[in-house]
Amino acid sequence: MPEETPHTDMAGLTARLSLRPAEVYREVKAGKLKTTIVEGRTLFAEADIKAFEEKRDAERNDLADEFTKWHEELAPPPPPETEEAKPPEPPKPDPVAQAPALADRLLLHAFRSGALGVHLDPVENGFRALYRRDGGLDERGRFSARLGELLRQALKVKLGKPDPVTQPVAALAKIDHEGQAIQVQGTIASTLLGEHVHLRFRDPRKKDGLEDLGYTPEQAVAVRKLLDGRAGVLLVAGAADPFASRHRLGLADMLAAGNRLVVSLEHRVHFKSEILVQLALPTGEGAEFAPLLAAALAMSPDVLFLDDVRTAEEAKGLFEAVAAGVTVVAQLRSPGNADALLRMVEFGIGKDVLARDLLGTVARRSLRRVCPTCAGLRPLDPGEAALLRAEPGTTVAEPKTCTECGDGFRDRRILQDIWVNTPEMSALVARIEPPAQELRAWGSKAEHGIANAARTAVLDREIALADVANLLGS
Ligand SMILES: [Zn+2]
Repeated sequence: MPEETPHTDMAGLTARLSLRPAEVYREVKAGKLKTTIVEGRTLFAEADIKAFEEKRDAERNDLADEFTKWHEELAPPPPPETEEAKPPEPPKPDPVAQAPALADRLLLHAFRSGALGVHLDPVENGFRALYRRDGGLDERGRFSARLGELLRQALKVKLGKPDPVTQPVAALAKIDHEGQAIQVQGTIASTLLGEHVHLRFRDPRKKDGLEDLGYTPEQAVAVRKLLDGRAGVLLVAGAADPFASRHRLGLADMLAAGNRLVVSLEHRVHFKSEILVQLALPTGEGAEFAPLLAAALAMSPDVLFLDDVRTAEEAKGLFEAVAAGVTVVAQLRSPGNADALLRMVEFGIGKDVLARDLLGTVARRSLRRVCPTCAGLRPLDPGEAALLRAEPGTTVAEPKTCTECGDGFRDRRILQDIWVNTPEMSALVARIEPPAQELRAWGSKAEHGIANAARTAVLDREIALADVANLLGS
């Protein structure tokens, strides 16, 4: 009988549970709230409402407890003088209102622990937080679906609108670390499981990546200086392969760290970057370069990249950009520096323009790396010491053999051959003719050229002297 079992109608229930009818309906659909049909009306039995409330309170408690656990776990270390004081009992948190604070705490905790970034990835029953480190990803912990969702929302709000410069690739936010603003770049990717939020710190103390690309420290300084100076073209010779993409990003990273706007025109986007504006070039017959170049220049970039100079139109466009005050880094398929310059002349660039607007050229060589596990050491003989300009008694690597390498060598070591356009080089470029013998001879002894790079790598015991002896001259 309805009179013996107390029932509540929809209006009474929405008031009692502080829910809107749509929310009540959702709970009913989810099976969390039972309904009873009495004389054709949808009512809610007191026992069912009680069960729903208890379950809801329990869930709220669990969420608050989980929040508190993470809030404490991610807390910054307390200043030493307050360690003695007994902290007052904290009030029960409000996870919804405090989610942004927890998101900040997560970011700061990751940054303090030396992580390069944080991933918040949906998994089957919630979310997992991963800290990105040099060697890969470490799982820091798992969040329930409720708390993870709150964090995901908070991180998204924190990132705000995508940055107009890097849009749609990334959005930017900042966190405050001991008075220092740390830039956070975020990407949000949708998958079947839900949205992944990937955040990456742009640590102002971050190390330069050029050494990872085979530059010696001296070469890295020289190239940084070149790109910091007057507008001009830096030609990068090599194959159009994934290493070329890495190289471009390494240079772009260095430039973007100086807050310069880098726009990259790409025939083939090898991977997306958060640090530069990438514009995909149209390909195929009749594809025009000029409109995209104009669009790129309209952004007033500080530096313009081109992944592969393929046509005379492109080559000419790049030198026109220099006239507009833009520094250009252009990659082209070429076996070396002199060939890259000859190719520019073939494309119709005037030798005087080339001699004037060239900043320099960079070509890469890939050599066998001595196996670090088994390599021995041997002293240089006097002739070798002279070749390497090393002190007598200096030792270099002597390849042996072990089960890891088989032949004494493992992996490759990239060496960069860098020609900085000095007045002397400029004079040679202005009268360049195939096969450019004079220029090649000059380049073989260039300050930041291959010979000195090879010397450094041999003295660092990374490559065998025999493999580069022909580069060192006599
Ligand atoms: Zn070995």
